[in-house]
Amino acid sequence: MSTTTQHPTSFSPRDLELKLKAARLVDPAESLPTPPSSNSSGSASPPEHGEEYEESYFLRSFEECVAIYDDPSRSKSESLALLSDEEVILLSERGKVAVYALEKLFGMDELERAVRIRRAIVSRASDTKSLENSSIPFEDYDYSRVLGACCENVIGFVPVPLGIAGPLQIDGTMYPIPMATAEGTLVASTSRGCKALNAGGGVSTVLTHDAMTRGPAIDFPSAVQAGRAKVWVDSEEGHAVIKAAFESTSRFAKLQSLKTAIAGRTLYVRFATSTGDAMGMNMISKGTEKALETMKEYFPSMVVLALSGNYCTDKKPAAINWIEGRGKSIVAEAIVPGKVVTGVLKTTVEALCNLNIKKNLIGSAMAGSIGGFNAHASNILTAIFLATGQDPAQNVESSMCMTLMEPINDGEDLLMTVTMPCIEVGTVGGGTVLGPQQGVLEMLGIKGAHAKQPGQNAQTLARIIASAVMAGELSLLSALAAGHLIRAHMAHNRSQVNTPAASVPVTPGPAPRP
Ligand code: ADP
Repeated sequence: MSTTTQHPTSFSPRDLELKLKAARLVDPAESLPTPPSSNSSGSASPPEHGEEYEESYFLRSFEECVAIYDDPSRSKSESLALLSDEEVILLSERGKVAVYALEKLFGMDELERAVRIRRAIVSRASDTKSLENSSIPFEDYDYSRVLGACCENVIGFVPVPLGIAGPLQIDGTMYPIPMATAEGTLVASTSRGCKALNAGGGVSTVLTHDAMTRGPAIDFPSAVQAGRAKVWVDSEEGHAVIKAAFESTSRFAKLQSLKTAIAGRTLYVRFATSTGDAMGMNMISKGTEKALETMKEYFPSMVVLALSGNYCTDKKPAAINWIEGRGKSIVAEAIVPGKVVTGVLKTTVEALCNLNIKKNLIGSAMAGSIGGFNAHASNILTAIFLATGQDPAQNVESSMCMTLMEPINDGEDLLMTVTMPCIEVGTVGGGTVLGPQQGVLEMLGIKGAHAKQPGQNAQTLARIIASAVMAGELSLLSALAAGHLIRAHMAHNRSQVNTPAASVPVTPGPAPRP
């Protein structure tokens, strides 16, 4: 008998070496064979002299594995190092090891092993059993940055192609525009827009507002009491008390305003605060919680129903964001010379302005849009969000954008602006801690906290996004306008004889220039 079967918790050096080797997951395609012979407790017999050792035969019984795992003389991570992946899977499948806790149990040096084992457990419990052998990558990733910060129950990562548009001149500096996307032509089209904008001297931006918001819902026994609380919050005294409590929680959170509203006996308070280089949701939540604790000292009957009462409004369409702004409010502006509009964009200033009014303004008004007065701001913004580690769910409000175009210099040139009141971005916290995303921020020169002026890195990112959105808007609208010009040209200048009828009616519009 081997020492393994006699004393599950002690090992010969050879056994230990084999166990540590077996810590690599066996190929599930070869799947574990049943041990050639088992004793009554189900543990494997050692191979006969001269037989080849097969690592997979060293799957010990559940009881043996439990004994090793529970040995009080070792830490859990030390015990797990003595078990093969298959044995850990066995323990987990029998409820001894929680799948969600694998990283904690294995320790920081074995995070990839924890992910590998979770994949196997999830895979084998699923109908398809495909995950374990799937093309979803999991190796060579720094899971230490994910743990406790970005994701739970990790089984790998999903790479997204990263392209570069531009560079684009923004406020005098050339920036490459990083875009993570699976939408073909998006990067190329944005690049074309960058080229046209650069030809006119680039984009200028102005930041008009910078405040993240949180809007808790607070119940009172009656509407009268809710009304009293509203008056207090709106008063100088109430504001000062709340501000002091709020700002005690972070050196970066500076309370800018409190907006109150009542529905029945429920009071909503929209806290708006600067958050340095963080996007700020964690920071503002902490501050709001503290402020409400202090407020309760003045209004003991109040009940905080939810720290977020949707008056914020986070990750949902809302007019309040469009009107008041959330995160960074940016206006970007550029002049595109007429010869660039015709030469690079293959359309005319007149056709572009006409299309912008009919599509982005009137069309969106007809659709009852809130903040959707643009062609595809979300495309560019979300691609940059993914590349730089932003919260992609916030593209809902961050993509709100009004694209405006007007002819200047007697109709020769194009003046273009995009107005984006809610760009919610940060360069610290959230997904910005991940290595690849940090690499992208580093390339832009805005990684982490700004050394001298907290908030400036995040603001620069918002300026870059608005400017890139402008490039995307210009290029797509030009393509649409140019397409229209081609159709108009075909309709007006070509013989209709033998030409099949157009399946799409040609919209009357400005005549193409000769
Ligand atoms: P968020 O509030 O966006 O969810 P986190 O709370 O994860 O972000 O990250 C913000 C943390 O980073 C805070 O603990 C804050 O103290 C710290 N921090 C360091 N430098 C800065 C900075 N320049 N701006 C904002 N936060 C900073």
